[in-house]
Amino acid sequence: MTELAVLPDREGRVGTLFDRALGAYLGLAIGDALGATVEFMTPREIAARHGVHREIVGGGWLQLAPGQVTDDTTMSLALGAALLRGEALGRPFDTQLIADAFVAWWRGRPVDCGHTCRRGIQRYLLDGSLEGPPHDGDAGNGALMRMLPAALATIGDDEAFARVAIAQAHITHHHPLSDAAVLGIGRLLHAVLAGAGEAAQSETITHLVAAQPAFRFEPYAGRASGYVVDTVQTVLHAFTTHAGFEDCVIAAVNRGDDADTTGALVGMLAGARCGARALPRRWLSRLNREVLQQITDQASALVALALAPRRAIPIPID
Ligand code: MN
Ligand code: MN
Repeated sequence: MTELAVLPDREGRVGTLFDRALGAYLGLAIGDALGATVEFMTPREIAARHGVHREIVGGGWLQLAPGQVTDDTTMSLALGAALLRGEALGRPFDTQLIADAFVAWWRGRPVDCGHTCRRGIQRYLLDGSLEGPPHDGDAGNGALMRMLPAALATIGDDEAFARVAIAQAHITHHHPLSDAAVLGIGRLLHAVLAGAGEAAQSETITHLVAAQPAFRFEPYAGRASGYVVDTVQTVLHAFTTHAGFEDCVIAAVNRGDDADTTGALVGMLAGARCGARALPRRWLSRLNREVLQQITDQASALVALALAPRRAIPIPID
């Protein structure tokens, strides 16, 4: 594990995989906490109230405490906990454990829950099915926003990543654009975590857009809604236009609309690119302490899970 955790990137820099993984997870929470203040506002409303919105101050339509996160982060934590629990129980990547974790999350009265997520969780409660039929209304960004733990737990194993990422997605969202977003952004995250340099990153992004042309973000249409196509375009535009973590996240959240989710996803990618050690102190210190602790614990455990020697697959008894 120690040898594998230290990987030189394409430019020969040595960074730790763990630092990048933790940077991604903390970046997600930072973007969520920062963006939630201006969620559902227009850029014009944001400018009138905040100038450029750049501090974690809470508030917003959810009336959050400063540093409080929303469903993007708390559903990710639920997914991460389910993946770790599955490993501990000898039921690796068991979708039912993930669905159960979403139910427990929902019963814990989360600060917010998207309509499509709620409908999927209620369907599972009603009939136990782990996915609904394909549905035109399922192209929201709810499955994309929480897929980070699936990517961390499957570093170096694209087949496992695709399986787990889509299984967790289909519990609530069953739509080809949601699937393409989950896979495309997840594979980009894997590339960044592996230390891909700028050229390799843009090659990955080119593949992503070629596979699903709806995600084309040049020229950028400027929409940042909860429609997964708008979300992916906004995230990729902010991620590729700005090099620094702060600049990326500020650019995304000041577009308003689904600002916590675009902030979370660009924070995830930019946090993986810069690593946890380079995250802005003033934002990290504002983040809810309990969330910070859970993220730190999960990031190391999920990376360890991914790097552990593959165990024999347990034979089902029943
Ligand atoms: Mn949210
Ligand atoms: Mn949102």
